[in-house]
Amino acid sequence: MAISVEFRHGVHPPEEKELTNQLPIRRMPFADELVFPLRQHAGKPALLCVKVGDHVERGDTLGEADGFMSVPIHASAAGTVVDFDWWPHPDGSMAMAVRLKVDRYAPQVARPRLVPRWEGLTPAEVVQAVQRGGVVGLGGAAFPTHVKLAPPKDSAVHTLIINGAECEPYLTSDHRTMVEYAPRVLFGIRVMMRSLGVRKCVVGIERNKPDAIEAMRAAVPADLAVEILPLTVKYPQGAEKMLIKAVTGVEVPSGKLPVTVGVVVQNVGSVAAIAEVFETGLPLIERIVTVSGHGLRRPANLIVPVGTKLRDLLAFCDGVTADAAEVIIGGPMMGQAQANLDAPVIKGTTGVVVLEKNETREQRSWPCIHCGRCLEACPVFLNPSMLGDLARVGRYEEMSANHLADCMLCGSCAYVCPSNIPLAQLFQASKTALRRQLASVQ
Ligand code: SF4
Ligand code: SF4
Repeated sequence: MAISVEFRHGVHPPEEKELTNQLPIRRMPFADELVFPLRQHAGKPALLCVKVGDHVERGDTLGEADGFMSVPIHASAAGTVVDFDWWPHPDGSMAMAVRLKVDRYAPQVARPRLVPRWEGLTPAEVVQAVQRGGVVGLGGAAFPTHVKLAPPKDSAVHTLIINGAECEPYLTSDHRTMVEYAPRVLFGIRVMMRSLGVRKCVVGIERNKPDAIEAMRAAVPADLAVEILPLTVKYPQGAEKMLIKAVTGVEVPSGKLPVTVGVVVQNVGSVAAIAEVFETGLPLIERIVTVSGHGLRRPANLIVPVGTKLRDLLAFCDGVTADAAEVIIGGPMMGQAQANLDAPVIKGTTGVVVLEKNETREQRSWPCIHCGRCLEACPVFLNPSMLGDLARVGRYEEMSANHLADCMLCGSCAYVCPSNIPLAQLFQASKTALRRQLASVQ
C-alpha cells in the first residue's frame, strides 16, 4: 500500500543524533520532590483529587480526567502531597501543580491492580482503559490517545500510521524505543488495530535509524499486516500531515484532520504506553526522555518519572558545561527555551537539549530581503515572509485568511531565513492572539 512519496519542501538541519543514538535507555532514580501540573495534555486539565498531607502510592491518581477530552494525572512515586499551587510549566507559563515529597524509603512498588485483558474488551472498553491510564501522544503534542482510538462514527478509518520518523535534531527516544522495545511497540499496534478495526498499519521510520528499522521488521508477528517503511531523512518528516503524504501519497486538505482521509497517526512512544497499560495495568507515570546537547556533560536516554524537575534531570547527567547557553524542552526546531529549571518533565517531554552559545540563535534580526527561501522551505506552501509582515503589525485576521491555521510552527522558514527573523515565534504569538480574540467575542 505504502508508496513512499516524499513531501515537498522542508529543510536539512544537522541531525546531531550521534550523541545519544547508540546509548541504551537507563532508568533515572527518583528525585526528592516531584511536581505534577494538572495541565499536561491537550484538552481540559485534570481535576485535583488529593489534598495536602495525603500519602499516595506509585500510580495513584492525583487528578481525575475532566470529561472525554481530558486524562487523569498519576503519581510517579510514593510520597506525601506537600503543596498545590502555581508552578513553572515547561510551556513558559505558570500552572496549578501538585508537589509531592517522595518517600525515600518506600519500595516504590505500585499497588496491586487489575491488568485489563484486552482480548475480551470491546473497542469502547479499550478506549476507557487507555483514558484511565492517562495515555497521551508522547511525540510532544500530548493529544489524549483514547480520543484517537474513538474516531467519529461516520469516518472510515482504513490505515494506522505509526510515527517513528523522529526528525527533530538531537532526539533519539523513539529511536531507542524501537531498538529496545520493538515487541512492546508491536503489541500496542495490535491493540490499536483491533480497536480501530483497521487491517493495515505502516510504521514510518527515517532511514537514519537502520537498527530501528531492522529491530521493528524482525518483531512484526506473522499474523499482523504491519509494514515498516523507511523514509527520506528530511525535516519535518514527523509532522502528521507530512508523514501521511510520505506514506500514502494523499494530502490532508487544509483545515482537516487525518481521519478525513481515513488515517489515524500515532507516535511510537504512545503505542508503547498503550501496550504497558495492558501489560502491567500501570498508568503513564514515566517516559523515555533524550537528554542531550553539546552543552551537557553526559548525554543519555533515560526513563524519567513524570514530575522530575529539569534541574534534577540535568544534575543526573553530570550538569552542563561552561559553554552551555540555553536549555530547550523538545528539539531545537520546535522546542521551548526554558527560563526556570524548576519546570518539570511532563508527559509530552520528548527531550531536553542543552545548546552551547555558538548554537543559539542571535537575538538580532534584519529586514526581510524577499529572497523567497522561506517559501521554498515551508512544507505546507504558506508565504512566511508575507505572514511575518502581517504578524509584526498585528493584522491577525488577514493572517487567518492566509491559512495561518495550517502553519504547524515547524520552524523551517526561520531556519533558512538569512535575516534571522523569528518567523515561527511570530506565528505562535499570532495564533495565541487570534485564540484570545475569538474567546473574547464568544
Ligand atoms: S513554521 Fe509555519 S510557515 Fe514556517 S515553514 Fe513551518 S509551517 Fe511553514
Ligand atoms: S527567508 Fe527571511 S528574508 Fe527571505 S523572504 Fe523569507 S522572511 Fe524574507
